[in-house]
This record gives sequence, structure tokens and C-alpha cells, in this order.
Amino acid sequence: MKVLNFGSLNIDKVYKVVDFVQPGETILSLDYQEFCGGKGLNQSIALSRAGTMVYHAGAIGEDGMRLKSALEEAGVKTTFLQVLSEPSGHAVIEVDGSGQNRIIVTQGTNGRITKNYVDEVLGHFEKGDILLLQNEISNISHIMENAKAKGMIIALNPSPTNKALYEYPLNLVDIFILNEKEGMALTGTPECCQEKILDCLEKRYPEAVFVLTLGAEGACYRGRGEHCYQAAFSIDAVDTTAAGDTFCGYFMAEYVNGKRPTEALLTATKASAIAVGRKGASPSIPTMEEVEEFPEIIQ
Ligand code: ADP
Repeated sequence: MKVLNFGSLNIDKVYKVVDFVQPGETILSLDYQEFCGGKGLNQSIALSRAGTMVYHAGAIGEDGMRLKSALEEAGVKTTFLQVLSEPSGHAVIEVDGSGQNRIIVTQGTNGRITKNYVDEVLGHFEKGDILLLQNEISNISHIMENAKAKGMIIALNPSPTNKALYEYPLNLVDIFILNEKEGMALTGTPECCQEKILDCLEKRYPEAVFVLTLGAEGACYRGRGEHCYQAAFSIDAVDTTAAGDTFCGYFMAEYVNGKRPTEALLTATKASAIAVGRKGASPSIPTMEEVEEFPEIIQ
């Protein structure tokens, strides 16, 4: 069984601020650093650090060779990565004193995924292989339809939520991994109530399973008659930037290894707690060794 993550790669420009900038205001940042990011890249790195072999497909510009190196250094297979003659995607990330973040993304080459390229990449995969997607690249409907026709298992992290998301054939998705805000947006649930979000998702996509992350509250799983919850680990939040991506990559790695949802939730919750305690996006994603040592570290 092969794992393909068809996803974004971004240069993350991280600005540390006391408080988020307000409309009409100009503020000085306390610190500035650049990291390799993008939900796609982060999730591939999380899968690889969790010990799973993953192929990353996507597009970068010539300014983004460091993104390719970052994937390779983490052990991700970049055989299918495309280099185009346009600027790579980038993100502007504000991190405030409490570790919360606000992000603006410019799509760049992430918006240049063509149907021909998709068909060529998927030609290397077959029935039973796993496809992971987020919502930061172009032609997602085509990827889903083509992958499903081949019999691949589709996991979707519907992030960020935007109008395009509602056009996708979401009935083809086997595993949804999403946070509460994404759950509310996707289902049209006006209040942040996990039971209502999950009821609505289950009704709408009865063939799928759902992992709902609840920030500092933890995460829950529902699907095919099974329901479980994992509380988050108590940790001083330094930067929550890659929490969801770390969780998603680790949950999928455990799923690929045939772990039960309860075990997958536990491992993903530990991994994301470690990421929350560290600065930056991809550099904050732990290795499986660190995750296995985690309970000893917090005691
Ligand atoms: P996203 O990053 O996509 O918004 P969440 O905020 O739900 O997603 O975070 C994903 C996971 O990261 C949570 O399910 C939880 O396990 C972990 N996490 C997030 N914030 C914290 C925190 N403050 N303390 C400990 N764990 C956290």
C-alpha cells in the first residue's frame, strides 16, 4: 500500500508580535523568521517522521528548492514534485504572545496543478493506495474523481475552508480530518457543538469516518458505529501553527499501520502537543521516537 500526499508547499514567513495587528494599525514585529510550510508539506513531514513512507506531489517555483530539500531531509519521496517557472506559494504568519496564530496564504505554484500532471502522478498509484489531500492546491475535484476511479482511499483535511470546498465531490472522501471551525463551516452548524457537527457530517457522508480536532480540548473520532475521544495533553502553548497538520499526519500514519482509532487518536494527540510546545511549522513536528517518549517528558 503506497501513500500519496497531493498538497501545498509554502515558504512560511513568521512574525512574532505582542498582539495581532488591528485594522488601520501598523506595528513592529518582535522577531522574524522563515520556515518551510504549507499544510501539504507539513503533513508529509509528519507522516514521514511518524515512520511512514510518503510520496509528495505538488508544485514549487525555482525560489522554493528549499521546500524540496526540507521534504527530502525528512525522508519524504519527491519523485513526483514539479518545479515551475513561477513563484512558490508563501504564507504570512503572525504569532501573538499567547501562541495563537493568524495566517494569510498566497497560492503561487500551488494554484498551478494541472489535470495532465494529476493524471501522470496518479498513473503510479493503484487500488488500495492512500491519497491525502488538503484544500490549498488547484484541481482537487479532478484528483478526487481520478483517485476514486482507481480505487484509492481518500483522506481529506478540508482546510482552509473556502467556497471551492463546497464544489468538491465530498461524497468520495473516506476519512475527514477537520477542526471545529472547519466542521461548522462544512456542515453549516451555527454553534460550536461537536455532537451536532458529527451528526450532520455522518448523515451527509454515511460511508465516511470523521476525526474532529478540538484544540486544547483534544480530539474525537466517529464512524461506522465507533465513537471515541482523546483529551489533549496539558502543555504550555508556544506556537499552535502546525498542530492540526502534525495531528493529521500522525493520525494517517497510524491508520496506514492498521492501528485502532483510539490508538491513532492517542499518538496524534501526543505528537500535536509536542508541536504546540515548539516554535515554527514543520520544524516543530516531532519524530515517532519523541512521541513515544512523551509521557515520560511531561511527568
Ligand atoms: P488546527 O491546528 O487545525 O486548528 P486544532 O486547534 O484542533 O487544529 O489542534 C489540533 C490538535 O492539536 C488538537 O486535537 C490537540 O490534540 C492539539 N492541540 C492544539 N492546541 C493545543 C494546546 N493548547 N495544548 C495541547 N494540545 C493542543
